[in-house]
Amino acid sequence: MSLVYLNGDYMPPEQAKISPMDRGFLFGDGIYEVVPAYHGKMLGFDAHIQRMQSGLAAIDIELDYTAQQWRQICDTLIAKNPGPNQGIYLHVSRGADSKRNHAYPQGITPTVFAFCFELPGEPVCDPELATNYHVSLEQDKRWQRCNIKSTALLGNVMHYQSGAAAGNKETILFNSDEQITEASSSNVFIVKDGVISTPPLDHQILPGITRWLILTILAEYSDFAVQQRVISKAELLNADEVWITSATKEVGPVVKVADQVIGSGQPGPVWQQVQSLFSQHKFDY
Ligand code: PMP
Repeated sequence: MSLVYLNGDYMPPEQAKISPMDRGFLFGDGIYEVVPAYHGKMLGFDAHIQRMQSGLAAIDIELDYTAQQWRQICDTLIAKNPGPNQGIYLHVSRGADSKRNHAYPQGITPTVFAFCFELPGEPVCDPELATNYHVSLEQDKRWQRCNIKSTALLGNVMHYQSGAAAGNKETILFNSDEQITEASSSNVFIVKDGVISTPPLDHQILPGITRWLILTILAEYSDFAVQQRVISKAELLNADEVWITSATKEVGPVVKVADQVIGSGQPGPVWQQVQSLFSQHKFDY
């Protein structure tokens, strides 16, 4: 039986009750994280918690959970839920108010919810799980604060859904200047002539923990030239390789963007090397 965490207690999911006056429900007023754990070991835990704490500070939610408390919640959920590989979803909303009013209310208690979902395995370690992604491409219509990991994900959901409706598993996005931002639930990398590039961190993209891990591992263990720079839509479509990255996908090779086949139509040689480096070093940080 699976158990979830809600405001200090562990319980079966059907017993977890949240007020409909919760601002997470009414406004999507909250911050979330997803931390993967393989055989009980969490990947990028400190970085995920740090990003969550910056997100909470950015929207003035005061929550006094320490990284150690978060670790204990995650470890308990991992132990109390079935399966060797789990994603841990952490969610903090501003809490329930007595009325619906846009302004941040004072003196309410944040709602803290967490649950596990089973992951099929470690994408980079298991060739069976290495999906060759076909993705859609469309203009980014989300808000101007995409660096905040907000639970208000309707823009991302709509972008993902339009990819899904076209039979794809992700949608890569470009801004009004035809510059690549990210994908609906992933960051984007390209490879051209052996050089690895990814868009720079700014308000248009989430600072992905997988993106950071890849950049850190490449700097430490490889001689690849790596650039954080603006990437145009044309460069994406003409790239030798395209990858999408996220905590649960790890480094996902993209073989088709809209109608354009990327490179040879198979995961490329740079991806092979990077995914091998990633699987060797990903738990070191
Ligand atoms: N961008 C968006 C919009 C995301 O939702 C995610 C996470 N699903 C990412 C990038 C990748 O972030 P991470 O590597 O921390 O999972």
